[in-house]
Amino acid sequence: MKISEILAQKKTLSFEIFPPKREDEKFTLIEKTIAAMDALNPDFISVTYGALGNTLSNTVAIASHIKKNTKAEPLAHFTCVASTKEKVDSICNELSEAGIENILTLRGDIPKDNTQPIFTDFKHASDLAEYIHTSRPGSFLTAGACYPEKHPEAFSMREDILNLKKKQDAGMSFFTTQLFFDNDAFYQFLLAARTAGITAPIIPGIMPVTNYNQLDRLIQITGCNVPLKLRNYFDKYKDDKTALEEIGLIFTSYQILDLIAHDVDGIHIYSMNKSNFITKLIDNIKYVATEYFK
Ligand code: FAD
Repeated sequence: MKISEILAQKKTLSFEIFPPKREDEKFTLIEKTIAAMDALNPDFISVTYGALGNTLSNTVAIASHIKKNTKAEPLAHFTCVASTKEKVDSICNELSEAGIENILTLRGDIPKDNTQPIFTDFKHASDLAEYIHTSRPGSFLTAGACYPEKHPEAFSMREDILNLKKKQDAGMSFFTTQLFFDNDAFYQFLLAARTAGITAPIIPGIMPVTNYNQLDRLIQITGCNVPLKLRNYFDKYKDDKTALEEIGLIFTSYQILDLIAHDVDGIHIYSMNKSNFITKLIDNIKYVATEYFK
């Protein structure tokens, strides 16, 4: 089923997972993490695709596993980085054979130490989506990424939102945001996107953070704003794992409840494959969540 059909009927709950780097970890991820997540009744589970294509076969294999063994729809990520038209054709064949109809089309992160050609046939996510829709009309839903606090390379928020409109015009059916901790930044972005004519659902992407170094890394990568109360708690309990987990759980629970109160299109959780923590999180808000995602 295409995820747009689900979004037309209800608010969605979804999780992102990533393929493990080591082959021997794959079994645990597939058997345990995905099964634990399926028990939380997500509408879809997205599977990331590593830079320079080195985990593409894992992405397709894990998405196929989700399709066969869970109630959730898989959303396979796919990037322009190092992708040719031939490669896209061949992956689309594999996805079709596995009954997978949903692709998150992305440009991909440019590796810092890159020595190989990165962009061949596609420069932007919108080029990739356009090619998939033109070469296989009606076969796939494409979705894309958006940035409530602006993509780091965009000159301005206005320019970034005009580029987001290009993604919608290229046929993308919905957008998932980059992680953020400041809900007000998301609400401002949502209003600006709607004003610019972006009508597709925009699903906030939330990453629970429970580790001091992880918070700093995320700020560096995304440039996201961190509310003072979260910063203060993290500074105060820097070396206390238990306290940081408790703070992460409560902060993320409240962040999601606030988004739900603003009637957002869905909630996407960057799980980092931590199914135990995600289970605790959903359990923490279970009465509201059960009602919202039903
Ligand atoms: P684009 O849409 O191409 O945007 C990149 C920049 O170009 C922006 O500044 C934008 O304003 C501008 N732009 C966009 N379209 C045009 C256009 N038509 N003409 C001119 N300028 C344009 N990375 C991975 O490697 N693997 C993953 O699995 C992965 N999953 C992700 C999932 C989500 C939900 C998000 C938010 C990000 C993910 N990323 C992933 C990271 C992503 O690849 C990077 O953020 C990357 O830097 C930009 O990707 P994009 O698809 O937004 O690129």
